[in-house]
Amino acid sequence: MERRSPSTVPRAESVIDTAPPRAADTQRADAPPGGRPEGKAADRGPRAKRGVPEGLWLKCDGCGATIYRKEAEELLNVCPQCGYHWYVSAAARMGQLLDAGTFEEWDANLRPTDPLGFRDKKPYAERIVSEQKRTGLRDAALTGTGMIRARRVACGVTDSSFIMGSMGSVVGERLTRLVERATTDRLPLIIISASGGGARMHEGILSLMQMAKVSAALARYSQAGGLFISVLTNPTMGGVAASFASLGDLCFAEPRALIGFAGPRTIKATIRVELPQGFQTSEFLLQHGFIDRIVARKDLKSEIARAIDYCGG
Ligand SMILES: [Zn+2]
Repeated sequence: MERRSPSTVPRAESVIDTAPPRAADTQRADAPPGGRPEGKAADRGPRAKRGVPEGLWLKCDGCGATIYRKEAEELLNVCPQCGYHWYVSAAARMGQLLDAGTFEEWDANLRPTDPLGFRDKKPYAERIVSEQKRTGLRDAALTGTGMIRARRVACGVTDSSFIMGSMGSVVGERLTRLVERATTDRLPLIIISASGGGARMHEGILSLMQMAKVSAALARYSQAGGLFISVLTNPTMGGVAASFASLGDLCFAEPRALIGFAGPRTIKATIRVELPQGFQTSEFLLQHGFIDRIVARKDLKSEIARAIDYCGG
């Protein structure tokens, strides 16, 4: 998983001096503590470098600039300098996409179990509990209904901060129920993918089965004449990219998102050739016909509303 490292940004020092050491982090719940502790230790010797307190400043992964957090948040977590699209949580995503106060969650009672008694660095059962506490989610997907510019939709979002947004039984089941309900209620369907992990290895074959299960539900939805808009965001990889995320009637992607099956390093090591520039980015995939349109986050709501109207949804 991509992790932000605390880095030094000299030009923000004068402001950082007056900043509180650390305010609430809304950028990534799993980010390491930003910056060194302020105060005396930071003023001593050659290590008198100051990091970026995560409460106030962000360092852009796209251009390296130091951005005032509030400014980025007003732009829906997009860098004002280079347009880089940062992570947003599933709940924030629903807030950005749906008309205020219209989201109604479906299947909130589904909770993951540990059918294999799986253990990697720690037991999966413990991992689930700690991820739930850290993210406030029950699993890596949030689903429900709401309005987009007064058009009712069924909407699902995966969240890359919960075990890399990977698809286990609960993610698969919630998405399948979402698709089935969209079919019976004849609703346009939007699924926004932010899944770097693909199928969740902790649930083994049960995770892999979800790919077929969601895809089959989508096929029935398609036969019933439904409109499915898949939105791919950074990152959309593995079994998620290889199933529902690629099956949209329309596939939108956020700018510069990483989208693919295996990661570029794995592919490079396997086939031993230089990969083309921009490989597995939204822009590359648009050029090669894998996605239909790149849509900036600020335009996503209006583009989806337009597509629904155009398709007679
Ligand atoms: Zn930037």
